[in-house]
Amino acid sequence: MLARFAQDAGRADQGIIGAGQMSLPQPKKENSVSNAITGGCLCGNIRYSISQPLDKIIACHCTHCQKSTGTGASHNAAVPTAAVTFTSGKPKRYADTAASGNILNRYFCGDCGSPIYSQREKMPEMMVLKVGTLDAPNDMKLVMNIWTDSARPWLYRDPGVQHYPGNRPV
Ligand SMILES: [Zn+2]
Ligand SMILES: [Zn+2]
Repeated sequence: MLARFAQDAGRADQGIIGAGQMSLPQPKKENSVSNAITGGCLCGNIRYSISQPLDKIIACHCTHCQKSTGTGASHNAAVPTAAVTFTSGKPKRYADTAASGNILNRYFCGDCGSPIYSQREKMPEMMVLKVGTLDAPNDMKLVMNIWTDSARPWLYRDPGVQHYPGNRPV
C-alpha cells in the first residue's frame, strides 16, 4: 500500500517527508512544474494523476452536493477528462438527476465513500474534480460560488468572490 502510494504520488511523498522532518529543504517549485498532480480517496484504493495544472476552485452550494459530500458545499475544479489518469482502482458511479433534468454522474470510492468527481452525461470530455481529494493544496484559489440560494447560512463566503444564486453563467 505505502509502496504503491509512494510510487504513484511523487508530490505526496514530498509532503509526507516534509511533515515529519520540517528542517529538510523541499524543492517545491520544481516539483509542481515537473511532476503530475496526484490525489485519491481516503482509503487509498482510488488513486489518480493529472497531467495539467489546476488553479481555479468553484464552490457548489447545491443541495445535492451538500448531501453527497456531507458538508456545506462541494469544492470543485473543472479538468479535461483526457488529462486525468486513474492509477489505481475504479470509482463507483451514482447517476444523479440535476436541477436541469440532465444526468450528472457522481463518482466515488465504493470502499470508503469519498466523492472523487462528477461528470455530466452530455459532457464526458470534462470532469468536475473534488479538490479535497488532491494530495497537496497546490496553488489554487476559490474564484466562484454557485447555487448560493441553497447555501447553508453558517458557511462563510468571501464577499470578494463571485456569487451566483443558481448555476454558473455560460
Ligand atoms: Zn477509498
Ligand atoms: Zn452541486
